[in-house]
Amino acid sequence: MRIFIISSGEYGSKIVNGIANHGFAEKIIGIHEFPPKEELPEFVDDVSEYVPEKVPEADLIIAVGIHGDVNMVISDVVKKANAKSVIVPIYHPQQIPIGLQNEIKKSLDEEIAIVFPKPFCSLLPIGDEFIDEFTTVFGKPKFEIQADEIVKSVEVLRGAPCGSSWFVAENIIGTSVDDAEFEANNKLHNFPCSSSMIVDNATGDTILHLASYKTKEAIKRTLGFTNRAAVVDEEICEGSGTCEHFCLNACPNVLSGTNTISLKTDGKATIDPGSCGVCEICVNECPYGVIEIWEERIPVENK
Ligand code: SF4
Ligand code: SF4
Repeated sequence: MRIFIISSGEYGSKIVNGIANHGFAEKIIGIHEFPPKEELPEFVDDVSEYVPEKVPEADLIIAVGIHGDVNMVISDVVKKANAKSVIVPIYHPQQIPIGLQNEIKKSLDEEIAIVFPKPFCSLLPIGDEFIDEFTTVFGKPKFEIQADEIVKSVEVLRGAPCGSSWFVAENIIGTSVDDAEFEANNKLHNFPCSSSMIVDNATGDTILHLASYKTKEAIKRTLGFTNRAAVVDEEICEGSGTCEHFCLNACPNVLSGTNTISLKTDGKATIDPGSCGVCEICVNECPYGVIEIWEERIPVENK
């Protein structure tokens, strides 16, 4: 696979380094660097002046860290590269509003696959040859852990493209299994994760928090348990009656495409403790007070 990257700012550089340092260096056939966002206009009348002059033939285009209308260069870059697939990770709530994402999609030929993972470490295979090849190494983190009461070794099966998963893996060895998910979260912040700390109105949470939920989920799924999660008392949940499923409509994970809260056939809500980030938003949104935070060992499915 041949990858061409268009990049801007510190976030862009971090992703380029992460991808190069963790196995895909030889697949990167070119990088075009735009100035940082402070030096780029948010609105652009004529995007053609920003289209890179030299674009090599490539399979996958990755556009990282570019804010605003300059992203409209993507369709010209795809054409020049004769590319088939595009990944545009979202790390900041104001980076590429939904309207602009739709414009970018419309500017591409129908057969081009494009995804806007928010954050980049939520990316999963979608059935596209090149995006799926990328996710054999990078995307939503997945670990293999050897442990008794203590974490003995951690293998990264798939890691965040910034490289944070490899840092987390190295630095939670020796931690008690009961503390591993929380320690992994601390190490992610130490790395540090470069996603924005500004609340994203589309999900009601920060993209940084969404990223931390993915890292903790990877630990919980391989260990098979968590020590903290939101739990619905399904006996008294009003989901099969008058409740309009306020929990489901407010969970940041659900709003970003993960089935953390789902409805059973009778309409009552249930929470997957593996992906729950314990943000407590559902606890506050449920008008019947039937969701509580449990701080005890809860089984987690490895899926
Ligand atoms: S605490 Fe509730 S709202 Fe927050 S991630 Fe967990 S299920 Fe979703
Ligand atoms: S908001 Fe509360 S009562 Fe309504 S479906 Fe969710 S958990 Fe059940």
